[in-house]
Amino acid sequence: MKDFLKGILEVQELDIKMMRLMKIKKQRLDQLAEIRALSAELNDQFKSKKKKIEEINEECTLFETKIEEHKERIKKLESQQGSIKKIEEFNAITKEIQVLEKEKTSAEQTLSDHVDDRAQEEELLEQIKASIKESNESGKALEEEIYEMIRQINTEGTALKQSRDELAGNVNRDMLLIYEKLLRNKKSRVVVPLENRVCTGCHIALTPQHENLVRKGDKTVYCEHCSRIHFWAETAPAVEAEAAAGKKRRRRQTLST
Ligand SMILES: [Zn+2]
Repeated sequence: MKDFLKGILEVQELDIKMMRLMKIKKQRLDQLAEIRALSAELNDQFKSKKKKIEEINEECTLFETKIEEHKERIKKLESQQGSIKKIEEFNAITKEIQVLEKEKTSAEQTLSDHVDDRAQEEELLEQIKASIKESNESGKALEEEIYEMIRQINTEGTALKQSRDELAGNVNRDMLLIYEKLLRNKKSRVVVPLENRVCTGCHIALTPQHENLVRKGDKTVYCEHCSRIHFWAETAPAVEAEAAAGKKRRRRQTLST
């Protein structure tokens, strides 16, 4: 393999590490955002529940006042009735009292419904309060843990970047630019070995002529399918030998059984 590819390969390994690190960092940041979103959601629920209870309270006051007013009017009418002589007038007042009584009963029923609703809403409010307390406690510990992880990732990332910059400084500038452009596109290894005449990037088979060019290694050879840069893996014969040995072993096992 040409030396400039060796340098690029070293840079590539660090870039892949960095990409993995950044992926983990993003996952951690997403976790943080999730914790915060959950907390915000609970606080919203708390606020809206409180508002609802206040509204029910206002309604209750309204009906309580209405009931009191009706009671007063009924009392007044009843006392008026005592001094009335004419039966028609007496009956008219009785009717008026009946109407007021009916309205009062209806108002009392509504008030009772509101009181039930309020009790239910207050119970829910207590549940939300408990959830907020729980999420604050566990969330805080988890947040701290995530912050610590991110700090470690940042430290590791800084060291990685430094090594990468040093290595990158020693490789062919034009080659590096091509490599970086490919990496931005593929977001995975872009300088890959050819194995059994197959591109290990896109897994598509190539021609024997292509293989020969890669094996010679006097110029940069790109995969005609995915544009990755191919190199001849010096480890390939070793792998083949190992595979052959494996086959032999398997054969021997088959024979002995
Ligand atoms: Zn390919």
